[in-house]
Amino acid sequence: MAASKAAVAARRARAAVKNAVIAGERSTTDVVRAGLADAASPEGTLRVRELLLCIPGLGPVRADRALESLGISPSKRVGGLGRHQQPKLIDYLESRAGRSTADDAPTTRLVVLAGPTAVGKGTVSTYIRENYPDVRLSVSATTRAPRPGEIDGVSYYFVTDDEFDRMIAEGEFLEWATVHNQSRYGTPRSPVREAMNEGKSVLLEIDIQGARQVRASMPEAVLVFLLPPTWEELVRRLIGRGTESAEEQARRLATAKVELAAQNEFDHRVVNNKVEDAAREVVDLMNIS
Ligand code: 5GP
Repeated sequence: MAASKAAVAARRARAAVKNAVIAGERSTTDVVRAGLADAASPEGTLRVRELLLCIPGLGPVRADRALESLGISPSKRVGGLGRHQQPKLIDYLESRAGRSTADDAPTTRLVVLAGPTAVGKGTVSTYIRENYPDVRLSVSATTRAPRPGEIDGVSYYFVTDDEFDRMIAEGEFLEWATVHNQSRYGTPRSPVREAMNEGKSVLLEIDIQGARQVRASMPEAVLVFLLPPTWEELVRRLIGRGTESAEEQARRLATAKVELAAQNEFDHRVVNNKVEDAAREVVDLMNIS
């Protein structure tokens, strides 16, 4: 009798949590944080799937797809989330929260700029950093050595293989990949999250494997593919840069061919004819005036 009374009370308390989320009085991330702090609380005993179903516009099909891409079983309760599942779920919920239901309200956006090697992603993102201060550019970590003129903490965080391994193990990356079969590159998760919490739009300039990972873990991210005006122009830019050996150039061209074939997976395509025009087009997708 007492046990069934307690079960009814617990169900009611969970229903109250869900209603608060549906009414917009509580954020989903707030519920997750409360549930992680106390697994026995109403928030902690709430199933993640039920929480997702409280989000406006998220039906069972999309909720199940999201759970699958997050690697969370449909029966999992918030308080029982694993160490690697927790940040993934919070990132996902925050990217959903960035969406606005009103047409004219500003939304924070995560925009991924990818494209073949040497297409000028770096030049476009540098131009954006220098000319659009409202856009936060994510600084990646990499195991490759700095090129002349590159500054640690600005161009990249240059880290050792051991440090990169540690960052993977600690779940510090939103995504990471081995690029050109050589060095590893990854996007640190927390600066992206902090910027979005502050209402800033964030730009990631990463490779295509990384873009696919972001799409899987944050389906609300906007994926932009930067295209060269022509293939010949891409080859000219790659050779013209003169920073890579002939062997390295050949390797990068081979990668670029495969990468160009992925353009249809992206939400938007931008041709990099003039840097300032391409930058403007990318920034226009970020909902910043
Ligand atoms: P580079 O060595 O020329 O600076 O960069 C090589 C490639 O790594 C570029 O295609 C660049 O977009 C990609 N890259 C840079 N940072 C990241 C990152 O954090 N994650 C992934 N997946 N790729 C990155």
